[in-house]
Amino acid sequence: MSLAAAPAGSIDWARIRADFPLLSRQVHGKPLVYFDSANTGQKPAAVIEATDDFYRRHNANVSRAVHMLGTEATEAYEGARRKLAAHLNVRANELVLTSGTTFAINLVAYSWALPRLQPGDAILVTRMEHHANIVPWQLVAERTGATIKVADITPDGALDLDALQAAMTADVRLLAVTHVSNVLGTVNPVRDICRMARKRGIVTVVDGSQALPHMPVDVAAIGCDFYALTGHKMCGPTGTGALWARGEHLEAMPPFLGGGEMIREVRFEGTVFNDPPHRFEAGTPNIAGHVGLGAAVDYLGAIGMAHVAAREAELLAHLTGEMRKVDGLRIIGNAPEKAAVVSFLVEGAHAHDLATLLDLEGVAVRSGHHCAHPLMAWIGVPATCRASLAFYNTHAEIEAFMGALSKVRKLLC
Ligand code: PMP
Repeated sequence: MSLAAAPAGSIDWARIRADFPLLSRQVHGKPLVYFDSANTGQKPAAVIEATDDFYRRHNANVSRAVHMLGTEATEAYEGARRKLAAHLNVRANELVLTSGTTFAINLVAYSWALPRLQPGDAILVTRMEHHANIVPWQLVAERTGATIKVADITPDGALDLDALQAAMTADVRLLAVTHVSNVLGTVNPVRDICRMARKRGIVTVVDGSQALPHMPVDVAAIGCDFYALTGHKMCGPTGTGALWARGEHLEAMPPFLGGGEMIREVRFEGTVFNDPPHRFEAGTPNIAGHVGLGAAVDYLGAIGMAHVAAREAELLAHLTGEMRKVDGLRIIGNAPEKAAVVSFLVEGAHAHDLATLLDLEGVAVRSGHHCAHPLMAWIGVPATCRASLAFYNTHAEIEAFMGALSKVRKLLC
């Protein structure tokens, strides 16, 4: 049955949670409360089984062998590409499968930006970017003489859209912006932002890592030039992901890595490259992983991403409401549009101590800089704690988390 057809309230979330084997384990003798899905998401049995089934029954390399298994493996891998493309509302031949967002953004940096940018050009990023959407641009800037400009954020953790627009000066060639912040939870209006950029001839790279797990994403409607994503945060295996790019960019981009799979003909005098997207997939890819990602897309599609978003909004409202009642607890990131990611600080307690003691209560939250040093500098702390939810979490877990937090605060503060 397609759950997407069912009204949100009729979805049996307890049954869906039971699809995730790991969520029923105990940690330090306590039932696990997994509030670290922004770091990596848990996997439903359907994804684990799809990967397992690939290795048990179909394992072979892709695009090389004419034998039956080779054909099956290629079909499974290309089938996963088609499923992911349909999920994003893009064409499959514009979707390069990668090891994740980091690879996807580096592909844009090395194949699109490096050959094009020069002194006098600027790359615009925002203060809320993950290091994966900062460091590749710094490497490009160093090698091309381009400069990096930073668009600031408002005190509640939203992007300052006026400042962003003002920063889109004539020298800006590329804008790199996250769809959803992994620290603040802020959902950025990427469609409006890309429209503003496009009017000025600025190429846009959207980091979709934290958006795909939480909401329906229509990449075609966003109107960006590049959209990067990572599979392991959206119920898929680690080492999977993709870069969507406009066909015209892919056609014009030189390959980033050379090797097998990405060529049509190799002679010592020169090589004819394969067409996109294969031109950008040198070597043996993560075949089983992407088959698993295809199963994750099927799984999320059966629930319906609108239902996922509604469920998480409800969980987020509950969690935020409870956390706001706690004296000395500060939530970092209060933008009007938020995904279920809550960074917080507790007066008198270090983030790492909090996370360590919460772990002893069975609660997994992340503490640290969340790969966002410039944002941490803006917040004015080296680390925060972060509770990040997914649709498989429960209201009872929120109560358990609040109980654990109260116990831990008594020990620390
Ligand atoms: N961007 C954002 C916003 C992220 O949260 C992450 C993962 N924490 C990444 C990029 C990098 O993703 P990956 O490590 O899977 O390449």
